[in-house]
Amino acid sequence: VAQGRDRLRIAIQKSGRLADPARALLASCGLSWRESRDRLFCYGETLPVDLLLVRDDDIPGLIADGVCDLGVVGRNVLQEQGQDRVESGRVPAYREWRALGFGGCRLDIAVPDAWDWQGPQQLGGKRIATSYPALLRQWLQAQGIAADVVLLSGSVEIAPRLGQADAICDLVSSGATLSANQLKPVLTLLQSEAVLAGPVEAFDDVRGELADLLLRRLDGAIRVRKSKLLMFQASRNDLPTLLPLLPDAEAPTVMQVDGADRMALQALCHGAVTWQRLEDLKRAGASGLMVLPVEGMLA
Ligand code: ATP
Ligand code: MG
Repeated sequence: VAQGRDRLRIAIQKSGRLADPARALLASCGLSWRESRDRLFCYGETLPVDLLLVRDDDIPGLIADGVCDLGVVGRNVLQEQGQDRVESGRVPAYREWRALGFGGCRLDIAVPDAWDWQGPQQLGGKRIATSYPALLRQWLQAQGIAADVVLLSGSVEIAPRLGQADAICDLVSSGATLSANQLKPVLTLLQSEAVLAGPVEAFDDVRGELADLLLRRLDGAIRVRKSKLLMFQASRNDLPTLLPLLPDAEAPTVMQVDGADRMALQALCHGAVTWQRLEDLKRAGASGLMVLPVEGMLA
């Protein structure tokens, strides 16, 4: 079924929440594309890695059918469709290859503000509206709760006010939509984010090498996303007090500047380098502090 065995084809969302960050992440891995006029297919230029721009819901199916090799999709969509396949007796034809660190949200159960929430058993006999019926059914079953799953494709959060349901199971990021609809989140079924999805088995042709290359670059890009290079000078005597202030840093490079005492340090910090931290370092004897963004990294 798979086409283009000498090129890797990645499906990403055409427009929506994951579209721009997915493209930016792949571009930061050194990929670039010649755009076709209709922009449904982008031909890879720097590497034989092409993009297919689609609706996010189609991505798992495209991987299952071998139309695409990999995809960037929310874990929520991947797991819902995977569970749907399980329910209907089909094999899971894809799996999560990497968590990508953007598009974060939760699949939550939310109930009307007025409910005095006592626990999951309270959902027994209730109608719960959702666009994630397979995941909700799986969870209800695991909890031993019998409830009615009301399938809605959108605007799930107004279902209780319209009398279509008693509670909902929907994606939540800030919670603002819920509170605007007089609902409160009470349980989390799934922590989601964008993931790289691929087939269960590794590729056994040249796409395997391309996928490995991409994964190595992705791991580097994900790792450095929050990393900063911190540079400063200090006297040798202050190093014992300064270094413990950099617990998230890789072993710093220390160079002698002039004489035996003055040192220049470079430390790659994987945590946030806040003003507070810079001030603490300065107080401990650091000077000429400089924070630089990191564009790439190959361990
Ligand atoms: P498409 O037209 O491609 O089907 P869509 O409307 O289904 O788009 P978006 O609303 O763009 O999809 O959401 C895509 C993904 O973004 C979701 O599946 C989810 O993983 C993630 N996401 C992050 N935060 C939220 C949120 N607050 N609400 C919905 N999805 C979110
Ligand atoms: Mg969609």
